[in-house]
Amino acid sequence: MLTIKTSANRKKSLTNFKIDYEYYFCTVQLTAPNIMKNKLLNRLKNAICSAPALLICLSAFSFNAMASAESHLTDTVTNGFKLRTVIVDAGHGVKPENAPKGHYSRGADGSFSNERNVTLAIALKLQKAIEKDITGVKAVLTRSTEDDVSFERRAQIANENKGNLFISIHCNSLPDRVIRERVGGTARRPKYRTVRVPDRSGKGTLFLIYALKRSTEAENEIKANQVEGESDLGDALDPDDPVVVILTNEYKRRFRKQSVNIANLINDEIVQVDGRRSEGLRGQSIYVLCHAAMPSVLVETGYINNPEDEEYLNSEAGQTEIVNSIVRAITKYKNQMEGTGTN
Ligand SMILES: [Zn+2]
Repeated sequence: MLTIKTSANRKKSLTNFKIDYEYYFCTVQLTAPNIMKNKLLNRLKNAICSAPALLICLSAFSFNAMASAESHLTDTVTNGFKLRTVIVDAGHGVKPENAPKGHYSRGADGSFSNERNVTLAIALKLQKAIEKDITGVKAVLTRSTEDDVSFERRAQIANENKGNLFISIHCNSLPDRVIRERVGGTARRPKYRTVRVPDRSGKGTLFLIYALKRSTEAENEIKANQVEGESDLGDALDPDDPVVVILTNEYKRRFRKQSVNIANLINDEIVQVDGRRSEGLRGQSIYVLCHAAMPSVLVETGYINNPEDEEYLNSEAGQTEIVNSIVRAITKYKNQMEGTGTN
């Protein structure tokens, strides 16, 4: 978990940053720049050659306005396209002993549960529901036990199975606020101590979509808040690197619109049918960047450190409701993309 020195009014943007760090750490940071560059070149080749591959990039860039603009599908029906395989990605896990080299992350903790178990429970239900309720669509899990799977392997699984859509299941969590509390001293020389205060105010869903560049505002926000334990956020994938730029353009051209579309469809189901709060769609400043070959969305299904959300996320009824919303959204997406429905 990330430690952040902050004030209360910066909480909102830091929520997003926490997610950034988590993904960055488990996917990008440990890769040496040169190796990354070579990998990116291969990815680029794959993307251009239409080989199955996966790209998720997240950067701090608001999609709120763009989301509605891009949700209209005037030119998205692809002749002959069939949605055949959905990759269902349960975030995090427990790193196994003798795990292969790669990026692993245990995820956030609630008061009585943890993210990695909730994401697995939802993903297992989602896989079954997709195969039962959406004719002709196969759902492939990136992990099916509590053992974590490296991000590299998750991408491989998506690619090997020729996924058409990548849905990553996660839970959100707000970092503790760190405040200074006066503990005595004199008027001229007051004494303070630092206190960590849990912040349980986050509630509802959030959808994360690829975007490359961190906004200046977000950069400044992070610098101003002196994030501890974070060294070189974003260094591994340089937004000015021509390879990254080309990859990003390729992603934008081929997959961003549909990523925004599926995120909007799920968001609509959760808000309009389930009546839950949502923070909407957002680009994020940390890249979960793999090979670019399918639309992708990361669903923060709720805040595991919010008591009500934690109950909901752990309940059979809550998990089923989330799964059903995602399945209805995928069904609409499939109909749109295949030109067979009215949605
Ligand atoms: Zn997560």
